[in-house]
Amino acid sequence: MKKRIAIFGSTGSIGTQALEVIAANPDKFEVEILTAYSNDSLLIQQAKQFNPNAVVVVNENKYNAVKDALAATDTKVFAGEKALEEVAAFDTYDMMLAAIVGFAGLKSTLKAIETGKAIALANKETLVVAGDIVMQKAVEKRVPVIPVDSEHSAIFQCLIGETRNRIEKVVLTASGGPFLGKKPNFLVNVKKEHALQHPNWNMGAKISVDSATLMNKGLEMIEAKWLFNLQPSQIQVIIHPQSVIHSMVQFEDGSIKAQMGLPDMKLPIQYALTFPQRIPSSFPRYDFTRSSSLHFEQPDIKTFRNLALAGEALHRGGNTACVMNAANEIAVYGFLRNRIGFLDMTELVERAMHKIHFIENPTLEEYFESDAEARNFAASLINL
Ligand code: NDP
Ligand code: MG
Repeated sequence: MKKRIAIFGSTGSIGTQALEVIAANPDKFEVEILTAYSNDSLLIQQAKQFNPNAVVVVNENKYNAVKDALAATDTKVFAGEKALEEVAAFDTYDMMLAAIVGFAGLKSTLKAIETGKAIALANKETLVVAGDIVMQKAVEKRVPVIPVDSEHSAIFQCLIGETRNRIEKVVLTASGGPFLGKKPNFLVNVKKEHALQHPNWNMGAKISVDSATLMNKGLEMIEAKWLFNLQPSQIQVIIHPQSVIHSMVQFEDGSIKAQMGLPDMKLPIQYALTFPQRIPSSFPRYDFTRSSSLHFEQPDIKTFRNLALAGEALHRGGNTACVMNAANEIAVYGFLRNRIGFLDMTELVERAMHKIHFIENPTLEEYFESDAEARNFAASLINL
C-alpha cells in the first residue's frame, strides 16, 4: 500500500525536495495534498505532475489562476488561511509533511495531529511556539512526530533501540553559517545577499537568515527539548563547519552515537517519510578517504547573542520562546526588506522578550495572543 502524503509548504525548499524523493519512489508514495502561500505557477506545475486530491493556495488573489489551470484535472482547489486547517482534517492522507515556514504552520499541524495523522516535522517553529501542547496532543492521539530537521533526525536515529537508556546529553551541531568567526564590527554592515549565502545548505530565506544569526540553532535547542523530552542542561551546541556529523547523543555510560552523511536534506526527508524503514537512495555518499578533517569549536555567544537569548527562553519556559520566535520572524522580515541591520535583529528579539508579559503555563489561545503581541511590538519598533 502506498503511503498517502500531504505536503504543507510544497513550493518551498523542503517541499520541493520532498517531491523529488516522492518522484524517485512512485511505488511507495502518493501525493494527496499540496499547499503554497502564493507561488501559483509552481503549485500548478506540481499538481499537474503529482495529481493530488486537493491543493491550497493561501493567497486568495491566486485562487482563480490555480482553479482555471487545474479545471481539467480531478484536483480540488481551495484558497485562504482557513482552508489549510480544513484540508489538514481530511481523512484521505496518512502523513503530513509540515514544511510551511514559521508560526503560520502551527494551526494546520495541530489539526493534522488532532485528526490522527502522522507528522514529518520540518516546521520547527511549531514546537518552539507551543511544544508542550503539540507534543501532548501527539501523545494523546498516539501519532508519531518524526523530525525532518537534520539535527533532530540525527538524534532520532541515534535513539533507535535506546528506549530504556538514559540520555546524558544531546549535542546539536551547527555549521556556524556564513559569518563564522566574524565579529560585530563586521556584522554591523552585512546585507541580506551575504546572509543568504549559506556555506553547506540551500534553504529558504528565513531559515538561511536564522542560520547566519544562529537563531536557527537556538530554535533547534527548543525543538530538541520538546521532541526528546530533555532538560535544558542536556542540550549542548557545538560548531562543526563541515556539517557531516548532523548531531550526537551521549548516554550515561559516556558512549556517544553520531549520525553522519553529506549535508543533503533529502536524506532526513526520505527517512521521515519511510520510517521505520530505510530505502535505497542515489544521494551522494560521504567518502572518508577523500575528506578533510572534521572540526569542532565552541559557539561565540557574545557575538551571536541569539543563541544566548534562546538559552534564556529554554530555561525560562512559559511563553518566552513563543515571544522570541514572533519577534524573530518580524526581525528577519525587516532585515530581508533592508529595514534593519543584521545586529538589529537580535536587539529587536531581546526587547520583545523583556517587554511582553510572562505566562508560565499558557493555553493555546494565550500562545496566539503572545505571538500577536510580540509581533505587533516588534513591528512597531521598526515602523513596519
Ligand atoms: P521556504 O521559504 O523555502 O518555503 C516555505 C513554504 O511555506 C512555501 O511553500 C511557502 O509558499 C509556504 N508559506 C510561506 N508562508 C506561508 C504562510 N504564511 N502560510 C502558509 N504557507 C506559507 O522554507 P523552507 O522550505 O526552507 O523551510 C520550511 C520549514 O522547514 C521552516 O520551518 C524551516 O525552519 C524548516 N527547515 C528547513 C530546512 C531547509 O533546508 N530548508 C532544514 C530544516 C528545517 P510560497 O512558496 O507560495 O511562498
Ligand atoms: Mg537544522
